[in-house]
Amino acid sequence: MAVKLPIYLDNNATTRCDERVVETMLPYFTGKFGNAASRNHQFGWEAEEAVDIAREQAAALIGAGPKEIIWTSGSTESNNLAIKGAARMYAKEGAQRGHIVTVSIEHKAVLDPCKRLQTEGFDVTYLDPGPDGVITAAMVEEALREDTLLVTIMWANNEIGTVNEIREIGALCKERGILFHTDATQWVGKMPTDVEKDNIDLLSWSGHKIYGPKGVGALYVRRRKPRVRLEPIFDGGGHERGMRSGTINVTGVVGFGKACDICRNEMAEEGRRLRTLRDKLESDITGQLDGVEINGHKDKRLPNTSNISFAWVEGESLLMGMKEVAVSSGSACTSASLEPSYVLKNLGVGDELAHSSIRFGLGRWTTEEEIDYVVDKIVHSVRHLRKMSPLYEMHQEGIDLSTVEWAHH
Ligand SMILES: *Cc1c(COP(=O)(O)O)cnc(C)c1O
Repeated sequence: MAVKLPIYLDNNATTRCDERVVETMLPYFTGKFGNAASRNHQFGWEAEEAVDIAREQAAALIGAGPKEIIWTSGSTESNNLAIKGAARMYAKEGAQRGHIVTVSIEHKAVLDPCKRLQTEGFDVTYLDPGPDGVITAAMVEEALREDTLLVTIMWANNEIGTVNEIREIGALCKERGILFHTDATQWVGKMPTDVEKDNIDLLSWSGHKIYGPKGVGALYVRRRKPRVRLEPIFDGGGHERGMRSGTINVTGVVGFGKACDICRNEMAEEGRRLRTLRDKLESDITGQLDGVEINGHKDKRLPNTSNISFAWVEGESLLMGMKEVAVSSGSACTSASLEPSYVLKNLGVGDELAHSSIRFGLGRWTTEEEIDYVVDKIVHSVRHLRKMSPLYEMHQEGIDLSTVEWAHH
């Protein structure tokens, strides 16, 4: 049977909304359109009840209590609220307001709030990972100081899928009385999560990465041992325990809850299926091509993610040769220039290889036929491009390219 094109393998960027999620949301646009904060009538009660159910569903996915869930517009907002909210709430007086530890390959939605806090007098340490991309508890321990008030480290990386030592880092922070936030956008919904056992105080995740709607997310805020307080970013009606004012996006929240519920029930099976497909993708590619490098730790990795560099080809040309496959490249368009991914760069991947990297993000509807098609397409494209590459020719003639002295213009 022919596969349906285009093929979507960019599930780390966003996912398609599950039909079951959409179905659950629909009544809340029309018949049940109430404001969850309206306390005087049926419409309000109905909306509030739906939001409460979603709160239970979201909490159940991460082992939290429903009162510990704060609704937001997505992980960008959750990260901002967690990081700025905690830093400003627990800030020390004076020029040195406190120390924060994070990692150089975090998502921009963590790095940029940290940068903002630096302008407010906070000191931020950006840890660099080793070549495998994993952040260990030992690395974090070395960075902790007397005045450290917050550690923020992602659970799994969005570009390479590597998984950090979250439980151990959490334990370390707990021992020292330091708040611990994790951007778990890529982890939650794919892997089991328990904020108690995993020692987490603040956790961000997002609807559109777990087959729910865009524009809705959640922040877990620990309520006991310790009771975490956050300075709000928005001032207003005092919704969400005063931490996030604004009328609740009831339809979005209902969808978010349903998406969490589906993940909780299906992630074990889905993870096994995607791991098998991802491993097949990698072994079929490496079995047919030389000069292929898989980026990030091979085992400490999400089951759905693969980031592969193809030596001696140009990334953009490779993508052009497979337009019917939706993937992300290792290049990011920043200010009109093509920059290599800062994540790959910080792992020590050279600019050339970073540019020729592709991120595959498998998802709920990825099929084996699609993987076969994609492998075929890539193997053909790479072989074709290499045929025209003088570098590849030199490599085949046994010339060590790293020793070549290039003429400069
Ligand atoms: C997608 C993503 C975000 C941003 O989430 P939004 O809900 O789109 O704001 C933040 N962190 C990570 C790791 C992500 O993958």
